[in-house]
Amino acid sequence: MASRHGLLIILSSPSGAGKSTLARRLRDWDPDIRFSVSATTRPPRPGEQDGREYFFRTPEEFNAMVKAGAMLEHAEVFGNLYGSPAAPVQAAISAGQDVLFDIDWQGGQQVRETSLGNLHALSIFILPPSIAELEQRLRSRGQDDDAVIATRMRKSRDEISHWAEYDYVLVNDDLDATFARLQTIVSAERLRRSQQPDLVEIVRRLNSEFEERS
Ligand code: ADP
Ligand code: 5GP
Repeated sequence: MASRHGLLIILSSPSGAGKSTLARRLRDWDPDIRFSVSATTRPPRPGEQDGREYFFRTPEEFNAMVKAGAMLEHAEVFGNLYGSPAAPVQAAISAGQDVLFDIDWQGGQQVRETSLGNLHALSIFILPPSIAELEQRLRSRGQDDDAVIATRMRKSRDEISHWAEYDYVLVNDDLDATFARLQTIVSAERLRRSQQPDLVEIVRRLNSEFEERS
């Protein structure tokens, strides 16, 4: 079986549409998928750990990373800075592992434009079935107060306006059905010719077998 090149799997959605839930399911399905742990200047929420959900950094530390070229992409979201450190992504991809990014549309655009992203990005946008359901999910998650929920809902319209920049768009109505579609997408994309570097060698061998027969 041919070895394969890692995918940069970009998941974006308005906040509350379900991308963290789907990302967790993807990792349960295939523990080899690496999560890109972002750096952020926002304060940790209760239960969040430095280095697990995010690398929590001061604006000065964050800007120093950007200046040193250590970020694959970075953007301001809800008034805070967020960015994806480049080194772990490069290490995972060259080891043939997929890397999953939970980033907004600005980050999605930047990752697709990198040399790695150009060849190996797979971008998926998650839509909620309705705006009422989106708000309901934000409330039921129980993480944010009314003011934060109102800010997230305002940002949602902007996020959704970028849906057509993505390779795939899933409406996350029934969670199991959406996850099944996500599995199908990832499984198929892993089989793309560009993800299978050993094919050149396999075809060369097939050709030399032809020559041996003639
Ligand atoms: P995001 O990461 O996009 O902000 P989450 O994954 O945190 O969203 O989901 C927001 C809330 O909605 C969570 O409480 C989650 O359990 C719930 N949720 C996710 N997908 C569905 C779904 N298809 N149907 C009902 N609830 C869902
Ligand atoms: P939260 O603060 O709720 O964890 O995330 C807020 C938003 O920031 C989400 O839309 C999330 O996808 C986005 N985000 C998280 N990490 C990054 C990142 O590294 N880069 C970019 N561009 N967006 C990010």
